[in-house]
Amino acid sequence: VRIDAQRLEDARAQMRQRGVDALFVGPSADLRYLVGYHALPLERLTLLTVPAEGPVRLVVPELEAPRARASGAIDVAELVTWGETEDPFAAVVDGLEDAGVPLKGRFAVQDRLWSAFTLRLQVRLPDASWVAGSTVMGPLRIVKRPDEVAALREVGAAIDDVHAQVPALLRAGRTEREVGQDIAELIQRSHDDVNFVIVASGPNGASPHHETGDRRIETGDAVVVDIGGTLDGYCSDETRNYAVGHVPDGYAELHAVLEDAQEAAVAATRPGVTAASIDAAARDLLGQHGYGHLFVHRTGHGIGVEEHEDPYIVAGNEDRVAPGMAFSIEPGIYDPGRFGARIEDIVVVTGDGVERLNHRPRELQIV
Ligand code: ZN
Ligand code: ZN
Ligand code: ZN
Repeated sequence: VRIDAQRLEDARAQMRQRGVDALFVGPSADLRYLVGYHALPLERLTLLTVPAEGPVRLVVPELEAPRARASGAIDVAELVTWGETEDPFAAVVDGLEDAGVPLKGRFAVQDRLWSAFTLRLQVRLPDASWVAGSTVMGPLRIVKRPDEVAALREVGAAIDDVHAQVPALLRAGRTEREVGQDIAELIQRSHDDVNFVIVASGPNGASPHHETGDRRIETGDAVVVDIGGTLDGYCSDETRNYAVGHVPDGYAELHAVLEDAQEAAVAATRPGVTAASIDAAARDLLGQHGYGHLFVHRTGHGIGVEEHEDPYIVAGNEDRVAPGMAFSIEPGIYDPGRFGARIEDIVVVTGDGVERLNHRPRELQIV
């Protein structure tokens, strides 16, 4: 857990620039990002209030206080606990008054705060106006600071190590679930948390978000392995394709084109290009080889304290990428009933190009 008081200061600077008087943040990636507290999403209110000026307050249920204290959030926020029979919203409004925030002000609410809490805040602050928390947090989170890039690099290396061990686990006769459990254990060893494990064998590979099932892996299967975890608050996400015993008909050609498409998208990435143009680099190449209709998702997603966040590398996103932005480049080809393939690396935009954070061989591996 890293607590960087500069993040709160930068959030306040955004708020002043956008005329926001206070920001409310519940248990979420935003909360971890701002104060390093991995709060449980409970029916009891946990709420961080960041006023544009004045003390930051973290209201937590009394029984969660030990976890909140241990998180280190109290280094940057005043901890206020509430007992089972108390009204936590009174503590929130108190905090606003202590900080001199006008109750008729303009408030930002973190995008994923439950409506059960947002609606009650609105009852307590009937004259306020409301904006999405992402207006404050979006510009902060989309550009990674050097310590965040270092964390992404570290977790990228950790998932590389897991992929290096995958060939030893993939054998005909084992189920996807058995292989997936072994992979999860490996992720657990090098990360703090397992985020997801996709082992999609044979025809299951044609479903991009297939996780694992009871299908037994057969000789001649292509297997898509897409895995990720969290280390020190930052996420990994890497996909490679394996063939068991021998390569199914038509798959080697498809995979070679996919390697070129992934490479083309990485090569197209540098400061100032649009997200859409990176997507187009992969999509056009797949289209030229007749696979365009089998590439059914966007080329990538941002990554950081969440697996999926801005920027999205997708047609229509004319936003320009900038140094410090981190995202996946993961074109795929999905041939229903037969097999699928996806090659995914995380990249970070540098001053003049791009750095890859995953380094496992991208070619098809026969195990
Ligand atoms: Zn996904
Ligand atoms: Zn991904
Ligand atoms: Zn992935």
